[in-house]
Amino acid sequence: MPLQNPPAPRHELHCHLDGSVRPGTVAELARAQGVPLDGPVRELVTAPARCGSLGRFLTYIDVPLSVLQTPEALRRAARELVEDWRADHVVYGEVRFAPQLHGERGMALDDAVRAVAEGLAEGRAATGVRTGLLLCCLRHQSPDDSLAVAEAAVRHRGEVAGLDLAGDERLHRARAHREAF
Ligand SMILES: [Zn+2]
Repeated sequence: MPLQNPPAPRHELHCHLDGSVRPGTVAELARAQGVPLDGPVRELVTAPARCGSLGRFLTYIDVPLSVLQTPEALRRAARELVEDWRADHVVYGEVRFAPQLHGERGMALDDAVRAVAEGLAEGRAATGVRTGLLLCCLRHQSPDDSLAVAEAAVRHRGEVAGLDLAGDERLHRARAHREAF
């Protein structure tokens, strides 16, 4: 019998952290933080294959986002993502997130970036998967918001590989964010 080929090594180049949190982790964080979930967690965080529009798809990120408001939670999500990549035969993965969406309880941009970078480092050490980190400016936010994210990227240039402009491109043009880029 022929030997089966091992799975080909993969590169993950477009992954949003808040859209990639394990449902079980979302549930655990929600319980620990006293955040109510109004439905089964798997349904709240998993978009159907055809969900109609990018705008609708993005609503599935709201619940994970609501529990990723502490450095500990961000760090855990980043570490577990790298572990999941390893299980998925990913040898290099880039993750992106918008640090300015994680300040609902007062976390500063720099603390959010540091927490994700630390989680990625832990994941790398445990799995050998190589990682990259991108920060997202958001189309619906102001040019000043984007500039603050770009400046955070520069401050953390040792950990941050690039800058993204995320959000609903049908509703919001890129032009307003020119200065940040
Ligand atoms: Zn994207």
